[in-house]
Amino acid sequence: MGFYNTEALILKARDWGEADRLVTLFSRDKGKLVAVAKGLRKPQSKLRGGVQVLSRSELMLHTGRSLDRITGSQSIHGFDLGDSLDKLTCGMYWADLLDRILPEREANPPIYELAMKSLAGLEASDSGRFPLEAFSLFFEWNLINLMGYQPCLDCCVLCREPLEPEREREFNFSAGEGGLLCRSCSPGTDGRVRLTAPTLAILRRWSAISFNHFNRIAVSPASRQEINTVVESVLLYHLERDLPSRGFLNRLGG
Ligand SMILES: [Zn+2]
Repeated sequence: MGFYNTEALILKARDWGEADRLVTLFSRDKGKLVAVAKGLRKPQSKLRGGVQVLSRSELMLHTGRSLDRITGSQSIHGFDLGDSLDKLTCGMYWADLLDRILPEREANPPIYELAMKSLAGLEASDSGRFPLEAFSLFFEWNLINLMGYQPCLDCCVLCREPLEPEREREFNFSAGEGGLLCRSCSPGTDGRVRLTAPTLAILRRWSAISFNHFNRIAVSPASRQEINTVVESVLLYHLERDLPSRGFLNRLGG
């Protein structure tokens, strides 16, 4: 294969050997991959600027036997979230989540666009007044849908009976079954997540709108809590492991 160029978001970088770093990148046209940046920790390295975490970069790589090697890098945009610790923690969590959820070397341009738009929205947000927790949940919800994990919210996932937020007040949700369950399919509440009608209405709307319209839908603290539980249960079900970096959401609260 030899040399190739790609645009990518840098998700993670960790030290490797004496002076190298292993870089996890999310390439727009190649998907997630781990590449080595040789000599990156030397002060004179020319690669530095383009391989910072949360940088959107143009990279040149060379195909290797086990790992590809980054031979050139130029930052297109380094997302600057440094004006608020919460924003930075949120951006780092998204990078960690993308790293864990994306399969290796499978391009997914819609998720790449989602990451770019979300990070740009996060960067531009006014840290004191912005509903950061709801925005992060909106990012996760979009990501879940684009990964193909979209839960069934129109009807009972088992018997297909339609479920209307106008008629019922409360619903049971099961990540394992893949969506809502009607009362006869879910007589108890063991292992179920409770979802009230207003929250269900928000999630249905969230599935249908773009980032530009996020602010038009108000989310009450109670609904935010319910959405948090739903999203967490779906992520845990599909990732089959904990997401320690997600803990910051619970800390944000208000
Ligand atoms: Zn049912």
